[in-house]
Amino acid sequence: MRGYLVAGNWKMNGSFDANRALVAGIVGGAPADVDVQLLVCPPFPYISSVGKLIEGSPVQLGAQNVSEHSSGAFTGETAGSMLRDVGCDFVIVGHSERRAIMGETSSIVADKFKAALSAGLKPILCVGETLEQRESGQTKAVIDEQLTAVLDAVGIDGFEDAVIAYEPVWAIGTGVTASPEQAQEVHRHIRELLESRDAGVAEKIKILYGGSVKGDNAAGLFSNPDIDGGLIGGASLKSDDFLAIAEAATSLC
Ligand code: PEP
Repeated sequence: MRGYLVAGNWKMNGSFDANRALVAGIVGGAPADVDVQLLVCPPFPYISSVGKLIEGSPVQLGAQNVSEHSSGAFTGETAGSMLRDVGCDFVIVGHSERRAIMGETSSIVADKFKAALSAGLKPILCVGETLEQRESGQTKAVIDEQLTAVLDAVGIDGFEDAVIAYEPVWAIGTGVTASPEQAQEVHRHIRELLESRDAGVAEKIKILYGGSVKGDNAAGLFSNPDIDGGLIGGASLKSDDFLAIAEAATSLC
């Protein structure tokens, strides 16, 4: 049993007041089941304060990005060691918004993944195809390229404590969700690719689905054998919505 991880990517949303209310709701309703882990990834300025708000609760803390460099003259960047310092256990790398808007290539994503590992963070590696790529039959080739870039950089051992998030770009923030069958097919493919390097790591690693997950579609997705939870954007900003997804996971344990 791999258990479930329900991770909230708050993106560039929040304020001290909004975060206090959101975290109070999440902490108050967090499932007691140890097989359902909750994680919140606030914007950088709020990581410390959110860390204090979740103290003593089972909710874990992560960041949305990390520099590929460890320190030095990189204005505006944040090193993995700093994220550890402020209490992060996880960091999202390679989110499609960063790939598309900030121009992060698979090679940069691989460097960030490596930097996260060096700092003792658990990377959540996002992979996924655009609608155009899916419609032209390139989904698996895109996933292979994004995943192999990181595998070649850190080796399969680098995935021991990592998480993968399959996030079809066409499903992110659109209200259109991949069907459970579409998601399971890609999750299986990801696990098989890892299996070709190390069966033990492939069996153990959590592969999350991301893309318009809500309380009413989460159970259908999470009930698949290779889907181990979700990376949640929009629905992570309201505690009731986020908890409904966590409850869907709990109902499957
Ligand atoms: C995301 O940005 O990682 C995401 C999955 O967003 P949403 O849930 O809003 O589609």
